[in-house]
Amino acid sequence: MQAPSLGGAMAPRGNGDVIRVARGISLTDFAERIGANPAALVTIMFHLGEMVTTTQSVNEETLQLLGAELNYDIQVVSPEDEDRELLETFDLTFGEDEGDEDDLVLRPPVVTVMGHVDHGKTRLLDAIRNTNVMTGEAGGITQHIGAYQVHVEHEGSDRPITFIDTPGHEAFTAMRARGASTTDIVVLVVAADDGVMPQTIEALNHAQAAGVPVVVAVNKIDKEGANPAKVRQQLTEYGLVAEEYGGTTMFVDVSARSGLHIDALLEAVLLTADASLDLRANPNQDAQGIALEAHLDRGRGPVATVLVQRGTLHIGDSIVAGDAFGRVRAMLDEHGNTLTEAPPSRPVMVLGLTSVPGAGDSFLVVDEDRIARQIADRRQTRERNALLASTRRRVSLEDLDKVLAAGEIDQLNLILKGDGSGSVEALEDALSKIDVGEEVSLRVIGRGVGGITKNDVNLAIASDAVIVGFNVRPESQVRDFAQREGVDIRYYTVIYQAIDEIEAALKGMLKPEFEEAQLGTAEVREVFRVPKLGNIAGSIVRSGTIRRNTKARLIRDGVVVADNLTIESLRRFKDDATEVREGFECGIGLGSFNDIKPEDVIETFEQREKPRA
Ligand code: GDP
Repeated sequence: MQAPSLGGAMAPRGNGDVIRVARGISLTDFAERIGANPAALVTIMFHLGEMVTTTQSVNEETLQLLGAELNYDIQVVSPEDEDRELLETFDLTFGEDEGDEDDLVLRPPVVTVMGHVDHGKTRLLDAIRNTNVMTGEAGGITQHIGAYQVHVEHEGSDRPITFIDTPGHEAFTAMRARGASTTDIVVLVVAADDGVMPQTIEALNHAQAAGVPVVVAVNKIDKEGANPAKVRQQLTEYGLVAEEYGGTTMFVDVSARSGLHIDALLEAVLLTADASLDLRANPNQDAQGIALEAHLDRGRGPVATVLVQRGTLHIGDSIVAGDAFGRVRAMLDEHGNTLTEAPPSRPVMVLGLTSVPGAGDSFLVVDEDRIARQIADRRQTRERNALLASTRRRVSLEDLDKVLAAGEIDQLNLILKGDGSGSVEALEDALSKIDVGEEVSLRVIGRGVGGITKNDVNLAIASDAVIVGFNVRPESQVRDFAQREGVDIRYYTVIYQAIDEIEAALKGMLKPEFEEAQLGTAEVREVFRVPKLGNIAGSIVRSGTIRRNTKARLIRDGVVVADNLTIESLRRFKDDATEVREGFECGIGLGSFNDIKPEDVIETFEQREKPRA
């Protein structure tokens, strides 16, 4: 018995049976699960209005459509469950300590420092690191490996604390979005001369959403106009009541600059950990944890900083981290000392992986290299399939005329992001004046000031919109996300250009011959004043390559601060360089342009001729 609409295709019908499938499976895989002929499923999909081949990865929507037609309850397995099932096939589990209560021992708390920009997060992380240069660790040159550990004498015992060395909540939320929780305690930095600011609240929201206790560091108390009492009072509104006011949150007045009360802050972290958390782990099992950051080093190959969460990591262990695998060849701590083992809560730089894992990937030790390789391979395949299934073509200005002509849409949705509310308003105003004719309409469905965020891209996906960035850019993860999802993001620096292009697109006349290709991005870590040369940005290349004499722009908090710059000088240590690749540090000079600050992003690009469609 089949519905006539199926064009005679034969496929067994379910009785609402639940079929659990992995993301991005093909019709062939699905056919096998329900004992059907793959070709029949293709026919059915065709009659449902979708052209799908038997081997192509299909997205969830398509699977649901097919399921509804054939009366199966299709449940697409979440990536987390998928991974759990994958590990189970090797008799492995991730995330829980082996053994029972008796096997657990106290482990150091892992702390992330968050707060509003310029409130002193970086400085505080430096101050904490410096209070604790252990005597006897001579010769150790501090390296930024993404995390470090300090030791505190607390109630008669030596208590280590681990700090994640990436200030700000982006890293924290990115990790959490990937299901990786590394942080036990958040130190919320609030400058006493500035008080509670938007990012203070954002950071607090993230911490509270994650259920992570907060210790407040009221910073810059050395400054004139510092008002620590006001910070306490402001934060009560957000549910953080200081102990001295009868609450449970510890507030510590500090000065990151003069190193004042850093010891009290560390003490507060330990007290908070002991009072509200049960931080224990089994050190006697195969190690597991999270990759905090990773890059490709020219001399050493892939290097990853991992945080051991349970078990002890040893030299020679076979590990798999995300879709990378390998054997631990060497381990280094933040002083560059080699370690032979790393117990719970210890961050270490690991050498010996065969490729670079992603930040936030879980890692675990397995019995043999073979198993590590198999898990990595399967994860790779899985990711690729999921990616293929999710890549859908969406509306872009380029092919707008075709989509319009085909009658697929009759409205162009736009999301406007700009560097100021004035420019966004002006742009919206000008757009509303475009004469678009009767067949189509133009609608601004979202607007805002600031960089293009993942939220904007999600909105664009949900409503088939094109994003217009006026003097603003997305972060590289957001850009990648948009690209993966096929969301068109357009960048403009002058309003009339935006209007011209959108108007042309609506009229089907948009034929750009050049497009901008991004060459690389570098993050400014430190700014040096060099006589005669001006300010030099001590930077680390985050993506692609930075080449001398290429065009560049400077981005601060997602906003383009200066366009039309040139990489006028480029150095590796003391030598001039023509190009510097991802993962390496370099000094960048932008000619007479001197307004450079740490955390700025320098983006280089070139105009490339675009093949005509
Ligand atoms: P972040 O953006 O939160 O990482 O802030 P930074 O650590 O970069 O600090 C921002 C600015 O505030 C820098 O110029 C610091 O030197 C300064 N600063 C940080 N902590 C203190 C402090 O305790 N006292 C004073 N006077 N200045 C500070």
